[in-house]
Amino acid sequence: MNGHVDFPLNGDQIRLIKEAVGRKCEFDRKTRVYKNLHLHHIIGQAEGGGNNYGNLIVLCEHTADDCHDKADHGRILKKKLRAIISRRPKRMRAEIIEILKGNY
Ligand SMILES: [Zn+2]
Repeated sequence: MNGHVDFPLNGDQIRLIKEAVGRKCEFDRKTRVYKNLHLHHIIGQAEGGGNNYGNLIVLCEHTADDCHDKADHGRILKKKLRAIISRRPKRMRAEIIEILKGNY
């Protein structure tokens, strides 16, 4: 263990992150209602992926063409998801980091 404690995100944080990205699937860029968006871990929590900025991306789910399912099954590559995160506007990045810190 490296001493890092990964606190679970609460419902407000999850909702606010979906809001911060414009309530869009960050892969297909289509606006969705909250319940059709999933805060996806690029490295799954079971594999040690945490609730850190670079590991979290908002993807659609419960639709006919579901990006979350594709990402979970390797049909959207992790490097593609990381590239999308790296292109987020500075202001969006700052907002998400504050939400993750609990400052909201
Ligand atoms: Zn999508």
